[in-house]
Amino acid sequence: MHVPPIPSLTATDPQLAELIEGEARRQHDKLRMIASENYVSTAVLEASGTVLTNKYSEGYAGKRYYEGQQFIDPIETLAVERAREVFRVDHANVQPYSGSPANLAVYLAFLSPGDTVMGMALPMGGHLTHGWSVSATGKWFNPVRYNVSKETGRIDLDEVREIALRERPKVIFCGGTAVPRTIDFPGFAQIAEEVGAVLVADIAHIAGLIAGGAHPSPVGYADVITTTTHKTLRGPRGAMIMSTAQHANAIDKAVFPGLQGGPHNHTTAGIAVALKEASTADFRRYAHQVVANAKALAAALLERGFELSSGGTDNHLILADLTSKGVAGKPAAQALDRAGIELNYNTVPYDTRKPFDPSGIRLGTAALTTRGLTEEHMPQVAAWMDDAVTAAIKDDEATLTRISGEVRDLLDAFPVPGYTPA
Ligand SMILES: *Cc1c(COP(=O)(O)O)cnc(C)c1O
Repeated sequence: MHVPPIPSLTATDPQLAELIEGEARRQHDKLRMIASENYVSTAVLEASGTVLTNKYSEGYAGKRYYEGQQFIDPIETLAVERAREVFRVDHANVQPYSGSPANLAVYLAFLSPGDTVMGMALPMGGHLTHGWSVSATGKWFNPVRYNVSKETGRIDLDEVREIALRERPKVIFCGGTAVPRTIDFPGFAQIAEEVGAVLVADIAHIAGLIAGGAHPSPVGYADVITTTTHKTLRGPRGAMIMSTAQHANAIDKAVFPGLQGGPHNHTTAGIAVALKEASTADFRRYAHQVVANAKALAAALLERGFELSSGGTDNHLILADLTSKGVAGKPAAQALDRAGIELNYNTVPYDTRKPFDPSGIRLGTAALTTRGLTEEHMPQVAAWMDDAVTAAIKDDEATLTRISGEVRDLLDAFPVPGYTPA
């Protein structure tokens, strides 16, 4: 049963309620390893499902365009204050609808159409919104890209500096969606300073690790920090932009009225709850456990002959090239899903295959850590993955079905917020 329960929804729209119950059960039964996903607490679910969704509040606390903000203003202020405390930043804007609009607001704040922006190339682990060609950010601006080193799978700051000096970007993005290694914020800051660029740290994936002290913080190095709130940070789907006091006004104006209308107040409340949770000792333990689990899983996968991009991980994320296993990423990911192990197919740096049918898979340990799994379970997870990948090659459905049962048996001992077995 979904938690909190949804009896009114079940009465009004049984068809939809059944689908939601199905998804809740699926999230309970599967080993969820999509690196950008997590389980939010029941408190975050409750805050996100309240009457706050009824309210319009364009503007910012104390400067709204609609009346009746007696409760919304303190709610948004609470979220902002908690963001400032957790991340130790001068300024936080909690209104961006999601990570992509947050990044677009950064473009609006600092660039004009046609200006040069620098980011990590998408196939190397960068995000679409860091200037990739199919994104508005790549079409309306002049994107230049850095790669990772072919030998090490890591960012080569000498290459970044060389490109920056040649292309003179106004904005440099660091961070990405498939980066298994620590981002060198001081190194990027030095380059940004040399070329007079605004440095934006997009910490969407690692925000929870930073909040929990398990990854260095970009504060003091990046001018602007963008993040989603729903990945390792374990809040509702949303985003924040944080900055030095100097850029506060430009960021706020870009979000509203530059790009958005009314903020999603129910989401703001969920973010406030998640940030309160993120300031606890429990959360610090979670963040460090996420990394410990990823390292243990990477070691177990290497032992089983998996080839890992950059040879391992420093954070929550692992990128595996399955070429040596004799299977492509997509059929492997699909077989793993049937085996109860949920992740995504992904390009690996210098992939020779197409983006829609690439060589790799990407996985992360945030959700399974929230669930309570620790290092001792990782060899078993690696063994299941190995067996499932082998089964994918042989079209061995029986093995996939066996694994999915074993996964469910293990996970039954680890309850999740959002669902209780009937
Ligand atoms: C997930 C992500 C985003 C975009 O977030 P959405 O909420 O999906 O729009 C932006 N940047 C990075 C680095 C991400 O990982």
